[in-house]
Amino acid sequence: MSIQAYLDANATAPLRPEARAAMAAALDLTGNPSSVHRFGRLARRCVEDAREQVAILVGARPAQIVFTSGGTEANNLALRGTKGAAILVSAIEHDSVLAAAPGAARVPVTPAGLVDLDALDRLLAGSERPALVSVMLANNETGVVQPISPVAALARARDAWIHCDAVQAAGRMPVAMIELGVDLLTLSAHKLGGPQGVGALVVSDRVELAALLNGGGQERGRRAGTENVAAIAGFGAAAAAALADLDKQGEVGRLRDELEARALAAVPGTIVFGREAVRLANTSCLAMPGLPAETQVMALDLAGVAVSAGAACSSGKVRASHVLAAMGVAPAVAARAIRVSLSWQTTRVDIDRFVEAWTALARRRTARDDIRITLPAA
Ligand code: PLP
Repeated sequence: MSIQAYLDANATAPLRPEARAAMAAALDLTGNPSSVHRFGRLARRCVEDAREQVAILVGARPAQIVFTSGGTEANNLALRGTKGAAILVSAIEHDSVLAAAPGAARVPVTPAGLVDLDALDRLLAGSERPALVSVMLANNETGVVQPISPVAALARARDAWIHCDAVQAAGRMPVAMIELGVDLLTLSAHKLGGPQGVGALVVSDRVELAALLNGGGQERGRRAGTENVAAIAGFGAAAAAALADLDKQGEVGRLRDELEARALAAVPGTIVFGREAVRLANTSCLAMPGLPAETQVMALDLAGVAVSAGAACSSGKVRASHVLAAMGVAPAVAARAIRVSLSWQTTRVDIDRFVEAWTALARRRTARDDIRITLPAA
């Protein structure tokens, strides 16, 4: 059966038509953006226009944008290219942050999924200076939005730099680099309706960044390699479209809230994680009692509804969620958590399909449990 309801935007959001059109136009440009002739200059113009669009999305200057192959590379560049004497990361960061700084101190979060500011301050006080602190803006599993301005104020008071992974937040809530007070900000195109394989690190003047990729002067010497012109053009167009669409997040939030209210009413014992905190409007992480997340994801897929297991990793396998574990959720409960994430394309019909399929699954689960209970063991 073909997918009828795509509710996995935090994995990849549907491509926006503006991005598709910009990429198609860019693919017809032959030049290398570093070439001085007219073909090269046209390709350069395309890249620089997109740089401006991405900069506007986060209130930065175009010169601060370093295009990368995506959020993963941008996070690696931020953590490995900044020469902090110590690194502190929140316990709920994406794997690309955690793996880029394996020796980093982990800052705990509260049961609501918010970074523990007192613990951060204590860790900073005991760290060598200057430290680098990395805290994401919105969590990819729960959607919980972190108090980045207070985090940045604490970090600054201790001479630390602050990196913020805004991959899930950008295009879904207002993001202003200066108001957040961060030095480094990570973006990824495919979460906001652009293509996969392109992202950016936004770098403030306070930070001196060493390139991870050498061998060319592109991106002001901060990332060597011929630019992926078409992907960058798609990123720029998606950034502009997402910014223009920001006021539609209210409606996205209403749909998400309706989905949760109906799920909670239909399936007793359902848990919604991070609900006490401010969350992205599009994300819901919820656990159905009694059924493993993988089973839910597969059964929903058969019903034409695409969601993720709460902790699906890049290989598609499900493993224990370090995010829910950090929030103090018991492993048996976390193993039942799925993530439903809405996109700019989601409609009430998609919500209806999810609720119908999920509640039908819950009814089947009960029937199976009853059978297991009433039948004598074979
Ligand atoms: N950071 C967060 C919070 C993410 O959710 C993801 C992707 O899921 C990434 C970084 C990695 O981005 P990319 O897929 O562009 O490498």
